[in-house]
Amino acid sequence: MSDKPEKFIDENGLRLDGRRVDEIRPMKMEIGVLSRADGSCYLEWGKNKVLAAVYGPRELHPRRMQKADSVLIRYRYNMAAFSVEDRIRPGPSRRSTEISKVSREAFEPVVLTHLYPGAVIDVFAEVLQADAGTRTAAINAASVALADAGIPMKGLVSACAVGKVDGQLVLDLNKPEDNYGDADIPMAMTSDGEITLVQMDGDVTQEEFKQAIEMCKEGCRQIMEIQKETLRNKFTKLDDVEVPDEDEDVDVSALVESTLESSEDDVEDEEEAEVESEDDTDQEEEVEGGDEDSVDEDESESEDAEDLDSVELVEDLEESFTDVDEEDATDDEDEDEKA
Ligand code: ADP
Repeated sequence: MSDKPEKFIDENGLRLDGRRVDEIRPMKMEIGVLSRADGSCYLEWGKNKVLAAVYGPRELHPRRMQKADSVLIRYRYNMAAFSVEDRIRPGPSRRSTEISKVSREAFEPVVLTHLYPGAVIDVFAEVLQADAGTRTAAINAASVALADAGIPMKGLVSACAVGKVDGQLVLDLNKPEDNYGDADIPMAMTSDGEITLVQMDGDVTQEEFKQAIEMCKEGCRQIMEIQKETLRNKFTKLDDVEVPDEDEDVDVSALVESTLESSEDDVEDEEEAEVESEDDTDQEEEVEGGDEDSVDEDESESEDAEDLDSVELVEDLEESFTDVDEEDATDDEDEDEKA
């Protein structure tokens, strides 16, 4: 671990990584990166790299765990063994259990849980690379993955932390600020400004705490814009398909096919994109208003996806999720039979 810096903020008011005190680290997201999950999101935030996957709503086994009037949300935050400098012991720890609990509670007020009684929604947040603020990074990715899975929610949840260094409040702590700072206050907020998570480590005055909340809210608003933009990029492709009038005679199968193709997984290799472009040319003749630009968008998004270092890890993790899922399902069925 590096030593404590002498100063966290220089004479120009800039932090060790060159940010202003109220500036978040650069963030980028990729949606729908796992083909077997119902919804997924890969997020890079500063040096943090997090993958979120959502499965469900699906029937919950064993049945005795089912809630009669609502869906059960399960949230698993996990740090990969290789996510920090020293290897982390695999499996749940006190820290990961606590983070999983508070993160699940951050989503409960926004998910319309009454719509799926007896079902379960599983959220997995895997930290691939950790550099302070991983619980908030995981919440931001999970929020987008839930939306990607089509889970009905009142709105998105966004999260970030405020801390205190050199006697000054700073937004979105980096690693040295987190390690050696005087306070760390992670927070999550819904789109209508409701706070669904606040934790505090360290000391701040009452006045500083109020300021920290306002600072966090502003950070969350900025993050929500990035989350919305990520979702918009995926779903505008669907909007581009012109919906015909009810009485108009339509070739429904062509319309469905074209809609599905335009919403296909964003992470594709260029070859696939080229093959699709030939298919699209045929369909444009059949579907009035077919989107000529959609292929270009797919290509440019595939290139974006290639920029993300950890996309190669996605397939491995996808398999490990599925394995865990299948094991769980088998165990559950056994339990059901015994019961
Ligand atoms: P958060 O990641 O939400 O800020 P913490 O404040 O508990 O949560 O952790 C701060 C940072 O410390 C993490 O992002 C990670 O980089 C590092 N860290 C956490 N747990 C461990 C651990 N068991 N081993 C090594 N580093 C860790």
